[in-house]
Amino acid sequence: MRLPIYLDNQATTRTDPRVVEAMLPYFTEVYGNAASVSHRFGWEAEEAVERAREQVARAIGAEAREIVFTSGATESNNLAIKGVAQAMIRRGNHLVTAASEHKAVLDPMKRLARQGWDVTIVACDAQGRVAPEAVAEALQDRTVLVSVMAANNEVGTLNPIAEVGRLCHQRGILFHTDAAQAVGKIPLDVQAASVDLLSISAHKFYGPKGIGALYVRRRAPQVRLQPLVDGGGHERGFRSGTVPVPLVVGLATALELALDELPAESLRLLELRQRLHERIAAAVPGIQLNGHPTDRLPGNLNLSFIDVDGEALMMAMRDVAVSSGSACTAADPEPSHVLMAMGLSEDLARSSLRFGLGRFTTVEEIDFAARAVAGAVERLRSQRVAWTAGSRSI
Ligand SMILES: *Cc1c(COP(=O)(O)O)cnc(C)c1O
Repeated sequence: MRLPIYLDNQATTRTDPRVVEAMLPYFTEVYGNAASVSHRFGWEAEEAVERAREQVARAIGAEAREIVFTSGATESNNLAIKGVAQAMIRRGNHLVTAASEHKAVLDPMKRLARQGWDVTIVACDAQGRVAPEAVAEALQDRTVLVSVMAANNEVGTLNPIAEVGRLCHQRGILFHTDAAQAVGKIPLDVQAASVDLLSISAHKFYGPKGIGALYVRRRAPQVRLQPLVDGGGHERGFRSGTVPVPLVVGLATALELALDELPAESLRLLELRQRLHERIAAAVPGIQLNGHPTDRLPGNLNLSFIDVDGEALMMAMRDVAVSSGSACTAADPEPSHVLMAMGLSEDLARSSLRFGLGRFTTVEEIDFAARAVAGAVERLRSQRVAWTAGSRSI
């Protein structure tokens, strides 16, 4: 076992060596520009990109021409939200999202709100789940887009996106889902879930960083979208810029591997997560599970340790790489907006750790991590008791 142990797979994943292998020829051999139509270098690159587009489409029940390659889920979310808002401005200016969303959804929404759009942010419940009824209540005649994530990146809770999609379609409203945490981890189908736009990020499922995709429905209904980036008209005009062929090949390869291994791997992760949870619970009193107890990503465990500061706990177990709150907001001293939206007190939110198990996590690592957590919590709590006892005697 090598230290430190990586248990932060909701922040990012190690690129699978099989994915790296598949990408390599596209740096040094098939290095043409996929937009070069006049020679073999370009044709071969284009073939690779179109093969990848087919693979990605098949993975989510879409058609190849409905896939737009982007730099990642942040860009896909921005393109979906700002793109639809601008293209649909004559239809209406009302957008709906949820308080538990990733900043890559909330921040574009906030910018649109500053620019005059009307944005409703619905609450999530205590488990981090967005109720379809809450979304239904927020809908208006002027609503053009609803954005609700498939799986939460902090607490792992799965949302009932098929129900949200159905009620959007009944009202003729477009439905976007940020599926960065769900793709490759739980089965997803854009038809079954009535999804019109879906964001994908390769580095969340053992693919390379800097590549993602946006699914954009072409039929029933056809989504109208204003591009964010102009110049050259690549990706059918939705996203100009030379397509990064090796990254696209990496995305598609990673997705295919993840889907091949999904049934067995989700069972394996579920068992590891239960083992970690049970071992910590057996050794440490005063913990609380955050997120839904069963309806959650198999590889996610989010716990609050009562009377322990999450940051301090993280520092006290340097051999285990986890995250307190969300990695994306780690520079920001505020407690996690997701935990706060779930109604946790600020203290409990600050006492939380996210354990993100992944493809390369082993049983030995889980047992080591459980012991490390138990030891660190005990040390911190005894220091706290000594400190409070000491200060009381003054
Ligand atoms: C990681 C993540 C993102 C951002 O994806 P990038 O590809 O890194 O831009 C967006 N939403 C969710 C839910 C995520 O987990």
